[in-house]
Amino acid sequence: MKLIEGEPIAEAVYRECLESFETLKEAGHLPGLAVVLVGDDPASKAYVGAKDRKCQELGMHSEKIEMPAETTQDELLAVIDRLNSDVAIHGILVQMPLPGHLDTDEVIRRIDPSKDVDGLHPVNLGKLAMDDPGGFAPCTPAGCQRMLVESGIETAGKHVVIVGRSLLVGKSLALLMMGKGKGANATVTVAHSRTKDLPCITRQADILVAAIGIPRFVGVDHVKEGAVVIDVGINRIEDPTARKGSRLVGDVDFDAVKGLCEAITPVPGGVGKMTIAMLMANTIRACRMKAGL
Ligand code: NAD
Repeated sequence: MKLIEGEPIAEAVYRECLESFETLKEAGHLPGLAVVLVGDDPASKAYVGAKDRKCQELGMHSEKIEMPAETTQDELLAVIDRLNSDVAIHGILVQMPLPGHLDTDEVIRRIDPSKDVDGLHPVNLGKLAMDDPGGFAPCTPAGCQRMLVESGIETAGKHVVIVGRSLLVGKSLALLMMGKGKGANATVTVAHSRTKDLPCITRQADILVAAIGIPRFVGVDHVKEGAVVIDVGINRIEDPTARKGSRLVGDVDFDAVKGLCEAITPVPGGVGKMTIAMLMANTIRACRMKAGL
């Protein structure tokens, strides 16, 4: 069994980012990312903090905007409008999920598509569906694809089964994997909460992706011998033996299935490492596109 770790692959993405960054700097451009957080959900706060720190590490311009949970739709849209017209900002990310009273769709649609580095604006999702490389693919699916490519796992003609149909992960990853680019050309099946006899479908997978949000849901019954398993899930579970009283686990029962797999991603240390790396790569590309480089 091969362990596909996110860290070295993310580092390769950061090295590419730094090369592009130098070219941009020489031409007088500094990539800038704005991350907007509404409310004080601890996990979202941690993600936003990590994104902000990574920008600083890379020497990028970064703006972290923290707004209270009771922020109104108009207040949030006004912030987006300001960021859309700020020439120092090339990428805008609104951390999801937003508090329930806010209209997420309207917020995403308000972001200038050329700054939508999270890839969730209908223009970018449309480009993804049309195999147009000029758009931005959502970061987590792009990270999964990059992991497969860097690990030398052939995807062309392979049966990829994705469990989960969210726009953020499952549905977008399906579009990427059935596309015609590198790390694609797969035959894709998307399963979800209404799928009947899930193990029968997942056992057909050459490459099985779990993006469900249920701790250790995917077990030995779901995995064909020799499959590649990509675990997108990040779930915090109680663990009295852990220092914090809790720890992170994926959607896959790693210990149970690892013996069956040809390759598998760990949690933590797998796909999660890639999401921020792809966000940085998208932001630098947004800056290059704006600069015409
Ligand atoms: P989501 O809740 O939006 O979607 C979950 C999907 O799982 C749904 O489409 C649903 O139909 C499906 N599902 C739920 N129960 C099921 C069942 N019993 N059988 C089959 N399918 C079922 O979640 P999401 O935003 O797509 O995230 C999924 C997981 O990925 C979560 O654990 C989340 O924390 C994690 N995640 C990780 C990263 C990362 O950077 N690694 C990024 C985003 C999300």
